Amino acid sequence: MSIEILPARLANQIAAGEVVERPASVVKELVENSLDAGATRIQIDIERGGHKLIRIRDNGMGISKDELTLALSRHATSKLKSLDDLENICSLGFRGEALASISSVSRLTLSSKPAAQDAAWQAFAEGRDMAVQVKPTAHPDGTTIEVKDLFFNTPARRKFLRTEKTEFSHIDELIKRIALSRFDVSISLSHNDKVVRQYRAKPDPEQAISRVAQVAGKVFAEQGLHIESGEPGLMLRGWVLPIGATNSCQYTYVNNRMMRDKLILHAIRQAFEEIAGQHELPGFVIYIDIDPRQVDVNVHPAKHEVRFHQGRLVHDFILQAIKQVVVPSQQNADTVAEQSYSL
Ligand code: ADP
Ligand code: MG
Repeated sequence: MSIEILPARLANQIAAGEVVERPASVVKELVENSLDAGATRIQIDIERGGHKLIRIRDNGMGISKDELTLALSRHATSKLKSLDDLENICSLGFRGEALASISSVSRLTLSSKPAAQDAAWQAFAEGRDMAVQVKPTAHPDGTTIEVKDLFFNTPARRKFLRTEKTEFSHIDELIKRIALSRFDVSISLSHNDKVVRQYRAKPDPEQAISRVAQVAGKVFAEQGLHIESGEPGLMLRGWVLPIGATNSCQYTYVNNRMMRDKLILHAIRQAFEEIAGQHELPGFVIYIDIDPRQVDVNVHPAKHEVRFHQGRLVHDFILQAIKQVVVPSQQNADTVAEQSYSL
C-alpha cells in the first residue's frame, strides 16, 4: 500500500460531500457569495429543479481576471486572512471551499467583471487537476455563475436527487429564508423560464414587515408582535405570532445568517411553554445580533449551527425577550375574552 496525494478534483469531490448535498445547497453557497460581494440585486434561474441548470447573477463587486483561477481553487478566500479574523467573522463565507467543491461535481462557469476592469472574463475548471481555463466574455459589472448538470460525474450522489418539483421546493424555501435575512436586497427566482418569486428591496425598516408578510404570510402583518430588545452586542429583534395563531413559519437568524440552532429554538419553546403551557409553537421570525466574537460559526460545514460562548446567557436573554412581548399581549387577549364572556 502506498500513500498518495489525491488528485485535486477527487479531493474537491470529497469536500463537496460535506456542503453540496442537493441543488438547494449549491444555491445557498452561491447566493451567500453574492451577498458577501455586496450585491443589491440577485437573479436566480433554475431549470429542472436545478438538475440541469442553476444560474445566479449579481451586481456585486465582481472578481478580477487575475483572481478567477484562485476563486475556483480550494481553500482560496478573500474573506479571511488570520486566526483573528476567524474569531470575528462578519461574512457569510470564509472556508474557501464552495466554488472548488461545486465545480468538481458539475460543469461550472464563472463570468465576472469588477467595475474597475474594462472587460469581462470567464473561467471554468476541468480535468483531474482542475486546471482553470480563462477566456474573454461579455458581462455587465458583477458576477454570473452557471452550474450545469449537477453530479453528472458522481452517480452515487445523483441517485439521491429527488424529483424536479421536490428539489425546486427546497430552493424556494431556501430563498424565502434568505429573503428574510436581507430586506435591502432584491431577489428574483425563476424556474424553467417562469418568474416564481420576486422580492423587491425594502431598505426602510418600516417596510420590512411587508416582505415578512410576503414570505411568511399576511398573518405576520395583521397579528405579528414586534420585538426589539437588548443592546448592541446582544440584541433580539423580529416578530412572533400570538399563541393560537396558526402559522408554521419559524425562522431564526444570527448576525443575518439563517440558523437552525438548538439553543435558540429551545429558548423560544421554553418561553411559550412558560406562558401558555404545552402549546404548538406559533410562527416567528427572529434575529439575534451578537458581537461576532461571542459566537463560533465554524462548527458545521453548512453553517446551520453556531456555538455561543455564553450559551446560558444568550438562552435566558431570548427567553426573557419573548416573554416580555408575548405575556402582555396574551393577558390582553385573555381580558378581552373574559369581558366578552361576562357581557
Ligand atoms: P468563500 O465564500 O468561503 O470565500 P467560495 O469558494 O464560496 O469561498 O468563494 C471563493 C472566493 O471567490 C470568495 O472568497 C470571493 O472572493 C470570490 N467570489 C465568489 N463568488 C463571488 C461573487 N458572486 N462575487 C464576487 N466574488 C465572489
Ligand atoms: Mg462562499
